[in-house]
Amino acid sequence: MDTPNKIKALYNKYSIAVWAYICFTIIGIVVWIIRDIRYFFLFNGIGSSELITRIIVIRYPQHRQLMRRIIQIFIGSLLLFMLGLGFGVDFQFEHIFFDLQAGIVTGALIHGIIARLVIPFVFGNACCSRACWDGMFFEAMNSKTRCKTPTKRNPWIAWGYMALLILMTIFVARYFTNPSGDEHELLRKKWIIAQNIFIVTLGFILTFVWGSRAYCRMLCPYMTISSLLYRFSFFKITPIKSADCTQCGACSNACPMLIDVKESVRKKEKIQDPQCILCERCVSACKRNVLRISHKKAE
Ligand code: SF4
Ligand code: SF4
Ligand code: SF4
Repeated sequence: MDTPNKIKALYNKYSIAVWAYICFTIIGIVVWIIRDIRYFFLFNGIGSSELITRIIVIRYPQHRQLMRRIIQIFIGSLLLFMLGLGFGVDFQFEHIFFDLQAGIVTGALIHGIIARLVIPFVFGNACCSRACWDGMFFEAMNSKTRCKTPTKRNPWIAWGYMALLILMTIFVARYFTNPSGDEHELLRKKWIIAQNIFIVTLGFILTFVWGSRAYCRMLCPYMTISSLLYRFSFFKITPIKSADCTQCGACSNACPMLIDVKESVRKKEKIQDPQCILCERCVSACKRNVLRISHKKAE
């Protein structure tokens, strides 16, 4: 193989790892300029973790899901336990509206913009499979086998739930206390505990009725926003050798978002479902190595 082809092959192999590192480092530098240097270390740390685990996965693909779970638990715990319960930073969607009513900007808006409006252009909804603290708990429960008739997403329910959350913040801030602001740190920590217990419990219950990751697929306002941008995502799950597919269906069965991966492979198409969270469960499930996260065309 000549040198340009060697470089091309190397780029194809490591492109996601390099893009993840560059993307998070740039985000870190931008937020450092706007806020302070701690954000640089936070985002550079996330990019470095993704880079390292990606390189391990290239060498040991059988550990793909283990590496992803490690990243998910690391980032999810950092956001919920260290920054949330330790420093009182609430990253939930509702808190963006508490902050707006208080006239301040905190980690909630920064997280919302980065995870739901910037990263989706490169990695789609990947934050849901690698960084969400509630997703970290939902992953512990694979209920697909327990729900016989999983229900598909209904946009009316999703947008209605989002509107309800915004109205709730207005009601609480006006008639009770707005948990935003330094003077309400203790109240905010209690709020963080209560809302996450509520979301995780609701998610567990709904999973029995609507199928796996029910809260994510049907209600989560962050998914409602980022799924609008999924079509622009540079990286998507891509069939790289559809001819090798036996239509066994293992990829579709493994998908927590109930996406018909097999059908996309049959049509030689990338996964276009806006709810794909790039968890790569379909990639791991395929014994014929048909699928990969890629920016290249489906083959
Ligand atoms: S859909 Fe919402 S709750 Fe589910 S993993 Fe994504 S951000 Fe978290
Ligand atoms: S698991 Fe692989 S071989 Fe089976 S249907 Fe999916 S892509 Fe095809
Ligand atoms: S299509 Fe694959 S990567 Fe996307 S959510 Fe389903 S299993 Fe995960």
